[in-house]
Amino acid sequence: MPDYEEYCAEIKKLWESRWLTNMGVEHQEFQRMLESFLQCPHVTLYTNGHLALENIIAAMRFPAGGEVITTPFTFVSTTHAITRNGLTPVFCDVNIDDYTMDADKIESLITGKTVAIVPVHVYGNMCDVERIQAIADKHHLKVIYDAAHAFAVKYKGKSSANFGHASMFSFHATKVFNTIEGGAVCFADDSLVEPLNSLKNFGLCGPERVVMTGGNAKMNEFQAAMGICNLRHLKQEIEKRKLVVERYRSRLDAVPGIRLCKPQKDVESNYAYFPVVFDEFGASRDEVFTALGKENITARKYFYPLTNGIEAYADLPSAGAEKTPVAAYLADRVLCLPLYADLDLKDVDRICDIVLSCRT
Ligand SMILES: *Cc1c(COP(=O)(O)O)cnc(C)c1O
Repeated sequence: MPDYEEYCAEIKKLWESRWLTNMGVEHQEFQRMLESFLQCPHVTLYTNGHLALENIIAAMRFPAGGEVITTPFTFVSTTHAITRNGLTPVFCDVNIDDYTMDADKIESLITGKTVAIVPVHVYGNMCDVERIQAIADKHHLKVIYDAAHAFAVKYKGKSSANFGHASMFSFHATKVFNTIEGGAVCFADDSLVEPLNSLKNFGLCGPERVVMTGGNAKMNEFQAAMGICNLRHLKQEIEKRKLVVERYRSRLDAVPGIRLCKPQKDVESNYAYFPVVFDEFGASRDEVFTALGKENITARKYFYPLTNGIEAYADLPSAGAEKTPVAAYLADRVLCLPLYADLDLKDVDRICDIVLSCRT
């Protein structure tokens, strides 16, 4: 969070203007700041990341029943954004080293009904953007990235906002950068600006024209003000996160039975998550999770269950966690350890001590 005084100074304007939502000055300024920070031609702001993803998929106007190739190793939001648009998710397995979509397995899933690929830069790990784009170009598919975890990540010096046809970021309170709740879609295609602005505002296009069936997904002024404040401090936040991650790595990297994500080549990380995979460690993931919980330390089983293994999708033809064996292996063994900028390195050591003490 920003300093209380800093946030108060930012929202003081709202008491003067009485303009609380509907694309006011904070919204406009925050949007410009993000376009510049993310080096992206267009940013559309949303009240949350999920609706941002739903809206960008809706803006593509895919035929109903179209198939979308996606990953099950993600938060359920990704898959729901596809199905809530009347499209069918088809699950592609993931890589064992960075947990993103396995580009080798995409083409065999493409059918005459495939309309898009929705990969996830999971944990802020960049997908194989070059190969995914080549496959999409060859088969005339759209690529929409769920970049919820990848804010401020760069690949070969280029912002993560600039891959595929569009990318969605989440600014939920739990993410590296937050606007309380919030989200954005980033894209270069000028023709998407109007439909996205309409979709998030009841399909309105001017005061007396309603051009499509829209919903309400607007970011309000208080959210934008939070974003403006937090963006000022993001660089230092990420630097502090880096120290936490380096400490975790130094304590856990060489431990038998622990597998960590390798830092990716050509990627400037945002240090969003610290996933640890336990395999023949001497304790299961669930045992480590419970041991930490007993000490009031909350780790998260991101991402368990897989979205192709949940009740909501039991009837999908593509359901079944066993059909994506690498993702299933990871989902049963992965634990994200606590990670935030102000996490004391002494506490990192304490967390590591508890983890290591679980070995039998
Ligand atoms: C957080 C998250 C979302 C949803 O974002 P909200 O801002 O919480 O709506 C979508 N996808 C992934 C991978 C996420 O982690």
